[in-house]
Amino acid sequence: MPIDGRHHETGEPIRVAATGGVITAVEPIGERPDLPTLAPGFFDPQINGALGVSFNSPTLTADGVRAVVAACRGHGIAAFAPTLVTGPFDALRHGFATLASLDDLAATLPVFHLEGPYISAADGPRGAHPRQHVRPPDADEFDRWQDAAAGRIRLVTLAPELPGALAFIGHLRKGNVVVSIGHTAATPAQLRDAVIAGATASTHLGNGCAATMPRHDNVIWEQLADDRLTAGVIPDGDHLPASVVKCILRAKTVARVYATCDASSLAGCPPGRYRVWGDEFEVTAAGRVVVPGTPYLAGSGHFTDHGFERLLNDYGVTLADALALTTRNARVLLGLPVPTLAVGQPAALIAVSETPEGWRVRPA
Ligand SMILES: [Zn+2]
Repeated sequence: MPIDGRHHETGEPIRVAATGGVITAVEPIGERPDLPTLAPGFFDPQINGALGVSFNSPTLTADGVRAVVAACRGHGIAAFAPTLVTGPFDALRHGFATLASLDDLAATLPVFHLEGPYISAADGPRGAHPRQHVRPPDADEFDRWQDAAAGRIRLVTLAPELPGALAFIGHLRKGNVVVSIGHTAATPAQLRDAVIAGATASTHLGNGCAATMPRHDNVIWEQLADDRLTAGVIPDGDHLPASVVKCILRAKTVARVYATCDASSLAGCPPGRYRVWGDEFEVTAAGRVVVPGTPYLAGSGHFTDHGFERLLNDYGVTLADALALTTRNARVLLGLPVPTLAVGQPAALIAVSETPEGWRVRPA
């Protein structure tokens, strides 16, 4: 079925036809008042799983991965980076090998994200990562994961204050891996050293850090001020107040920010308490995923579409900027091609409409 809408760049009314997931025609049509805006689907560089399936699971299966991909597509996510977090060596090796074995999903899962285990062990910066598996950087261990992943680990989140971190950043850069600073209690000097060593991004800036910190010499100002760092933000309304998202966008400019949902393996699950690898998490009625009895969020219960609508409805971001933050900027950071609305391009599109209840997005 062809799709009618407005081209997100030109505003022109168009009809898009597709076969086998690829755009086969883009034709002009007559003006109509009800047309949604059409754009390439979301790319999210940080998704940990969904529907109870965790990419960290030592029993992750191909069917589990496919279920997460289907859930993500239902929220307009055309492609994403499966994200494996701090955990035991064998579980992560199994996860990366399982993901890399799915040849038919290579375009949907073009790269993988390793978040941890080389992060701060301190309460606060560590977030919900299990303390017993946090450790200093180990290039040999990473290389074995990268082998299991067939070279597709393209993003690593680490804390640069750990022993050996600067040399490890150099090791990753030689392998064409993007290094992102996160879950850290680094000093401003340590952050500057990390950038000199090759770090180019900040993972969910404003989260994964201490709840209280020095007013000036802290991890947020230093990363905000450094134009060499592209910042990830989680604009779901739970992880950051709107004022912080606005300040990050103004300080970095839109071109140096990307939005992520940081979907937890419990995203899409009904409210309740869940045990995931011995730890208990709670999905609240509002869709927050929390560590019960603590102030710590364990990722998000929402997908990228939720943050996209928040950017438009609550944070005063323009449609063009919201699309850049959710479909384009993380691809640029990772050196991935940026899809367009043209023949031969992926047909996984989103349709965006302004309704009396606010902006709404759906898969096209
Ligand atoms: Zn995190």
